[in-house]
Amino acid sequence: KTQLLKSNTEGDLSNDVAKHFSVTVNRKPEIQAARLKLPVCGEEQVIMEAIRNNTVVIICGETGSGKTTQVPQFLYEAGWSHPESDNSGLIGVTQPRRVATVSMAKRVGEELNLSEQEVSYQIRYDATVSNNTRIKFMTDGVLLRELSEDLLLTKYSTLIIDEAHERNLNTDILIGVVSRVLKLRADLSREDRQRIKPLRVVIMSATLRVSDFTENKALFPTPPPVINVNARQFPVNIHFNRRTPDDHVGEAFKKVSKIHERLPHGGILIFLTGQNEITQLCKRLRKKYPALPQKSSNSAKIEEKLANELESKSTKAEAGKEDLEDEDVELGENQIDEDFDLESDSDDDSDLGFDEDELDDVKDAPLHVLPLYSMLPTEAQLRVFQPPPEGTRLCVVATNVAETSVTIPGIRYVVDGGKSKERRYDIDTGVQSFQVDWTSKAAANQRAGRAGRTGPGHCYRLFSSAVFDHDFAQFSKPEIERMPIEGVVLNMKAMNIDNVINFPFPTPPPKENLFKAEKLLGYLGAVNSTTKRITEFGDTMSMFPITPRFSKMLITGQQHDCLPYVIAIVSALSVGDPFIQDYHLDETQPGESANEEDDDDDDLAEQELGNLKKQSVFDKQRRKLTRKKYYQSQVKHAGLDPKSDILKFLNVVGAYEYSGATTKFCDENFLRPKAMEDIRKLRRQLTNMVASNFPHINICVDPQMKPPSKLQLKLLRQVITAGLIDCVAMRQDVLDTDGGKGLSFKNANNVPYKLMWSDEVAYIHPSSILYGQSPPPVLIYSELFKGGRNWLKGVTAVEPKWLAKIGKSLCTFGRPLEYPYPKLIGDNKNHRVCHVVPSFGPKGWPLPPIE
Ligand code: ADP
Ligand code: MG
Repeated sequence: KTQLLKSNTEGDLSNDVAKHFSVTVNRKPEIQAARLKLPVCGEEQVIMEAIRNNTVVIICGETGSGKTTQVPQFLYEAGWSHPESDNSGLIGVTQPRRVATVSMAKRVGEELNLSEQEVSYQIRYDATVSNNTRIKFMTDGVLLRELSEDLLLTKYSTLIIDEAHERNLNTDILIGVVSRVLKLRADLSREDRQRIKPLRVVIMSATLRVSDFTENKALFPTPPPVINVNARQFPVNIHFNRRTPDDHVGEAFKKVSKIHERLPHGGILIFLTGQNEITQLCKRLRKKYPALPQKSSNSAKIEEKLANELESKSTKAEAGKEDLEDEDVELGENQIDEDFDLESDSDDDSDLGFDEDELDDVKDAPLHVLPLYSMLPTEAQLRVFQPPPEGTRLCVVATNVAETSVTIPGIRYVVDGGKSKERRYDIDTGVQSFQVDWTSKAAANQRAGRAGRTGPGHCYRLFSSAVFDHDFAQFSKPEIERMPIEGVVLNMKAMNIDNVINFPFPTPPPKENLFKAEKLLGYLGAVNSTTKRITEFGDTMSMFPITPRFSKMLITGQQHDCLPYVIAIVSALSVGDPFIQDYHLDETQPGESANEEDDDDDDLAEQELGNLKKQSVFDKQRRKLTRKKYYQSQVKHAGLDPKSDILKFLNVVGAYEYSGATTKFCDENFLRPKAMEDIRKLRRQLTNMVASNFPHINICVDPQMKPPSKLQLKLLRQVITAGLIDCVAMRQDVLDTDGGKGLSFKNANNVPYKLMWSDEVAYIHPSSILYGQSPPPVLIYSELFKGGRNWLKGVTAVEPKWLAKIGKSLCTFGRPLEYPYPKLIGDNKNHRVCHVVPSFGPKGWPLPPIE
């Protein structure tokens, strides 16, 4: 430890007033008792010594050892952030996830007995920060934005970067930037030093791959000390399925039933991939094991309602199919013979890994089923920390937020579906999508560890050991290797980090991705394509807390009072589809048909349609909403232009506001209330930003928008095109030599479109409003979905002549055509207007001549 405490400083830390300080805290006795049991509290002295003597300290400890809740309190008690101390700046704590940001701020406030303002949080849509704030929890995205305004982070005396092992994109960038801030803060002039003390940084991580931070000389020239917090971890028995089921939700249901009916007391934690699966499983479990009647809290009601929405939808769509499945499980019939699979026989408990005499028979005990995922209202999220009602068994169905960010007390059994939903980035097309895939071995072991926090536990993996051995990567890839990084690159440019290629990333992304991001920013006009420096336009773009594509739309959309509509659209696009149906999840298996003969496209289309059957009821609802309620005011709405999927968001937002922004409206229209609320908040935030930063723009701040005019609708399509200018598809026949004149189309089904960056073709997705319409010659898409065939989603019809104007940076202009009398326009006599035939994109698609 002496070795460890040896000073490794970038600046002079000697006149450290904080050490003379201590702040008295009045904790409730039960809280004090609970925290003293946390392993990290045994290391308080060591940790504080290390922080005093080093600018960077790494704390590495098992999930649940108390890092997130306790380390900020150590600092607070030692006088950091105290107004009279020299280190009076805030204690900042960053988190990759919103769920953890809010719940940890609340918990630390409660433990310290301080107000919501003193221990505050800030996430994109919400903040409790005030002048009284001492400890501030925030998502790392929030701090990155602050950095572009205050590169020295003068507000902060200490910064805790939490969950560094997640290797989330923003966390990685943050660590890179902060490594530079440290140097800047240490190298200040003498006077500045009086005011601004050297910054301390604490990087906290679960016990995974710390070497990426310690052994990266570009990041920290002197390797920072690592404090290991040794948490007691009880043994966890791991049981693999003999066979890997197709339906892991169904399998989880069976497994939980068995555990609950046969195994001794202890909470169950189930890992699934997303909200859709989680609500499904919760619903089935609640139906089978009804809970005790509970005093109904508000959050319980909201969450119940979310579950019910899904219930009513699937019941309608599948006509009671779920009931049958329940019966199968209970009877254990019809499932045994196929693979001689004993596991499907619910009377056989051999797979539970318990001796016969250990098995309880606790049938009919109530199960206290709680979901946990990021879109859940905060109150509902916090219920997982409360002890379950007397006599019930806790059962939490969670996403991988419960893997390391949030520790749920009392878990003895873990059921691991083995998968997670990840954002993917197609480097060729630049389009992102969500995909469900196996997690990593490291993640699976983390999940298993959740069962051994309070005593020996069991982990049931719903996949075979062969799959684990062969299909699981050792670690998940850092997000920076999987993500579109244009937003981060733009932000870095706005911080005057021009040379992103040489930035000290913990794991440098492939140069290819950085070049691509720079290129896209070039197409969007945000950076100068030659100098790679941010343009004035890009600077404005970077002010908005949304991805560059969307901020481009926002800035382009100022004409003809379009801005309120554009703000509504980009808010919805940023928050994500507010409709309950999660397309990404329902379409994760279409690849199966991809290996088959590919020549019968119609069949494939049929298959896709089959996959979508479940959705179709829902889609009808969705379209009805778009068509029927033009802001609930019209009987006939000549204005509705069925030319863009993206405009449906405008209608939803408009209708929502006219309904008084009620949950009832969301219920009736299959909308997620939380998403609609977030969209509302983001709209307000963006509107205020425009109003205060661009006083010359006279923006209407009334959330209730007038229905847009026809002209405005057309402009909106142009605005959408501006943000997606590199996602253009052209109807294949248009590019054929005869210009497609020989063909006529009744509708857009099955009409192939060429993609601009690859030689593949794609088709308009059946969920699109354009499906069944006359197919436009050119369109832009917001998502390219690779299934049995390539599907274009989020489609907008584009007039070919727009491309030359909106997508100038992607056009090449041929020699001017001979024109007998070049026209002169306006007062500028030098401005000759000629006929030019532009061509668009890397393939040189011909566009109509411009005049
Ligand atoms: P780490 O960051 O090391 O993973 P945490 O500080 O998150 O550990 O958790 C320490 C303990 O605090 C855990 O046992 C966890 O269950 C408990 N805890 C965290 N938040 C709450 C809460 N809101 N209510 C009750 N207990 C909580
Ligand atoms: Mg933590």
